[in-house]
Amino acid sequence: MDCIFCKIVAGELPAKLVREDASTIAFRDVKPQAPTHVLVVPRVHVGSLDELKDPTLAGALLLAAAEVARAEKLAGGWRLISNTGADGGQVVQHLHLHVFGGAKLGRMLPERKG
Ligand code: AMP
Repeated sequence: MDCIFCKIVAGELPAKLVREDASTIAFRDVKPQAPTHVLVVPRVHVGSLDELKDPTLAGALLLAAAEVARAEKLAGGWRLISNTGADGGQVVQHLHLHVFGGAKLGRMLPERKG
């Protein structure tokens, strides 16, 4: 499968790793949208949150994200986002959690109609 995050997991593409464990890895986003912008991904290929069935892996991803935030010293607060599907703005089809922090983050909600 031609998946860039699978290639990062396999060490076939370079990435700035910040954390890894048996089931997840975390690396810096190549186009950061905040002073800290880290992606937490499962080692196994899961297309998106829609396809995540394993509660142990779900927990590992959440705990990894929180550990990244602590390691990055985001004591003032941080945000976790997982874009899911076309309307959710997902571009890379391998489940990933965005950890954003290091600045006061603006609201990131769709604009209201009417
Ligand atoms: P999403 O829109 O949620 O699918 O976001 C995909 C994210 O992956 C974007 O923020 C990209 O900048 C990031 N990205 C794409 N390719 C790489 C890469 N090779 N290394 C690190 N981040 C990447």
